[in-house]
Amino acid sequence: MTQLQAGAATDVGRVRQINEDRFLADELLFAVADGVGGHQAGEVASQTSVETLLRAFTEGEHTTEGLVAAVEAANSAVWHLAQGSREKRGMGTTLTALALVQEDGEEQLALTNVGDSRAYMLQQGELIQLTEDHSLVEELVRDGKLTPAEALTHPQKSIITRALGMEPVIQVDSWEITPYQGDRILLCSDGLTNELSDERIASTLRQIADPQEAAHDLVRQARASGGSDNITVVVVDVVDDGGRSGKASAALAGSKTSTKAAGAPTVATAQPDLEQTGSRLAAPPAPAPPQARRPSLAPPPAPVKAKRMTWRVVIFLVAVLAVLGSAIWAVAWYARGAYFVGIDSEQVAIFRGRPGGLLWFDPTLVERKQQPTGAELLPAQRVQLDAGHEVSSKAAADRYVNNLRQELELRRATTTTSPTSTTTTTRP
Ligand code: MN
Repeated sequence: MTQLQAGAATDVGRVRQINEDRFLADELLFAVADGVGGHQAGEVASQTSVETLLRAFTEGEHTTEGLVAAVEAANSAVWHLAQGSREKRGMGTTLTALALVQEDGEEQLALTNVGDSRAYMLQQGELIQLTEDHSLVEELVRDGKLTPAEALTHPQKSIITRALGMEPVIQVDSWEITPYQGDRILLCSDGLTNELSDERIASTLRQIADPQEAAHDLVRQARASGGSDNITVVVVDVVDDGGRSGKASAALAGSKTSTKAAGAPTVATAQPDLEQTGSRLAAPPAPAPPQARRPSLAPPPAPVKAKRMTWRVVIFLVAVLAVLGSAIWAVAWYARGAYFVGIDSEQVAIFRGRPGGLLWFDPTLVERKQQPTGAELLPAQRVQLDAGHEVSSKAAADRYVNNLRQELELRRATTTTSPTSTTTTTRP
């Protein structure tokens, strides 16, 4: 019988007003949820997700598929709640869950992830990140467009590309891990990983044996180094594996690939022990090899299908935003980028913008000229200026008004000398 022992801690941090993180540390089920959404909706999302997860997992099958189904149930609960009220629309939550399950008569740890909360495994002193963040910057890193160092300080760090409650159907990443005595699994929200380096997390997990104390200490350190977000930590220890590691040791005894002298067996096969089980939409997982294997120190295989889908969505959104942005910019440039001569309060005036305005860009009055007045214009000029005579610059507008004035003076001069003739002169 596999025996687990867990500790958990959460803290609002030093900047946020409310704690929107939730955790679950039940007998066989552990989870961390980090809610997002204004008006305390994030809190509702994370709370709903862990409550639904626990209920659905307890009622359902204790298998990896059962855990995935419970996560899907949690997604739908949050989604339905989000649709129900205006303040809650758009709320969501990350959810990283771990459960002890039965697969083909063997006890396994099932792990699922949606969002940017994480699961790590400390095994023989080595810390391995098990989950893959569904966040914009992590996807850029995976695509080689950002270095991990750049990702740490990226302004869009907190944008998640997958979360519970955003869509009626969710894609859940899942893995199966064979538990060995001494293994320690850490579930945490980004409030921990944004404040503490992996090295510091690893050294704390190595030094503090009690899972509850370790969880507390990690939260305390994250607070001390900034605490800019809610911090949540669940530490799960495999305290007994029912003799599995002993059997594995025996099976591996004399293996030439075993190089470490430590009592427990080391990595002896090329195949990772972490199996990506895929979502229900993906192809069924490959059957587990018969031999007991140790987890590899490499990160688990990436959920390629999910990643591509998400990445495509991100590219699409970025493209849409870029097109919208440049369209708005072009309209603004066009709407504001020209001048016209018109009539304001019965005087000739120069405006910036387009006659009558364009969309929400109204023309603005630049200058009202003393002369000519509206009444002094010839009927044809009046018609033209009522509609607005467009020119390319302020200087061109001034030239145009000068021409009108000269034309008026000329007209006055001719009117005084010969009242019967009216000459109209227009200059280019
Ligand atoms: Mn967070």
